[in-house]
Amino acid sequence: MTKEEVAEALASSRGVSHVPQPASLNALLCKSASVISVGKREVENLVGQKSKHLLYDVDREVVFTEDELIHVREPCTMTPKEKARALKCSGCSRTRIFPEGKDQCLTCERLS
Ligand SMILES: [Zn+2]
Repeated sequence: MTKEEVAEALASSRGVSHVPQPASLNALLCKSASVISVGKREVENLVGQKSKHLLYDVDREVVFTEDELIHVREPCTMTPKEKARALKCSGCSRTRIFPEGKDQCLTCERLS
């Protein structure tokens, strides 16, 4: 998805009350370790100017299913309840909710 598509998806999904501005969305996407850019797409705007937009996706080598997204959340996007469950990973020193019964985060688990 492009940044604009992410914003659109956020705007149309229930439970999202505030859609970030494109600039802060950009910062958010870059800051998330499990969101990677997977290429570029040429997008034409209203007056016919073409520009390349970065495409974003979750790192699919780490995240296999939607249920697993919770394990790659950045602490700043966690709810207080989730934060209480999160632990600092000894492998990558990121704060994550570990998969059930594991002592490292999903990223270290999958990439090791
Ligand atoms: Zn880790």
